[in-house]
Order: sequence, then C-alpha cells, then structure tokens
Amino acid sequence: MSDCIFCRIAMGEVPATIVHADDRVIAFRDLDPQAPVHVLVVPRRHVGSLAELAADDGGEDAALAAALLATARRVARAEGLDEPGRGFRLVANTGPEGGQSVGHLHFHLLGGRRLAWPPG
Ligand code: 5GP
Ligand code: ZN
Repeated sequence: MSDCIFCRIAMGEVPATIVHADDRVIAFRDLDPQAPVHVLVVPRRHVGSLAELAADDGGEDAALAAALLATARRVARAEGLDEPGRGFRLVANTGPEGGQSVGHLHFHLLGGRRLAWPPG
C-alpha cells in the first residue's frame, strides 16, 4: 500500500535503521523508542493487524507468523536480551482499544530496562 508508512519502509522508500531483513520480514528501530532496545518486527507484505493474520491457515500466513516470531527471537539474541538476568517483551497492539496507531502488523520488541506490568 503506497500510503502505508511500514510498506514504504519495507520498499526502501522511507529510511529506517534496519536490524534484520529477509524475503518475508524486516525489523527496524522505532522512531520514538520507549526502552533502550525498541525494535519493530514487521511483515514485508501488508497485513493490517494481527486480527487479519490467518495464523492457523497452515499456509503462507502460518509461515509468516513463524517467521515474525523467529525474527523477534533472533533480534533479541543479537541485542543481548536473552543473557542471564535480562529479558524482553514482545507486543502487538491490535485495533483501537489495543492502542494500534500504524495499520500494518508489527510486533514491538522492547528491552534493556525493567519493564512495568501491567501496561497502561
Ligand atoms: P503502534 O502504536 O501501532 O503499536 O506502534 C507504532 C509504532 O511505530 C510507534 O511506536 C511509533 O513510534 C512507530 N513509528 C511510527 N512511524 C514510524 C516511522 O516512520 N519510522 C519508525 N522507525 N517508526 C515509526
Ligand atoms: Zn503496509
């Protein structure tokens, strides 16, 4: 979608600090980080939200769901967040009540400080 900011980042039309890229998934640093590590894990293909991902279809969406999780895990490791005593959080804000502001599926990978619970 040409008017979607994350599609434009995925196509290289808008700059971002990319930390991972493959044929299905990109990961880049959030413009307004809420923690020392704040990376967005994003499918290249436009999917509006997690509610629009048919993660149990046994096909492309299921493969995409697995790839998104694998990328989050890989970036967490690369950022040192899986070391003893550390940790991270993976969040997909979904829909208006979920606090989603960009209408292209993304997981926030947050870490590098002690995170409070519950979120606001
Ligand atoms: P949401 O509110 O949808 O869960 O998260 C959207 C996130 O995207 C926010 O944390 C926001 O800072 C980030 N964001 C919005 N526009 C851009 C952008 O152009 N570049 C980057 N790197 N992050 C963005
Ligand atoms: Zn998009």
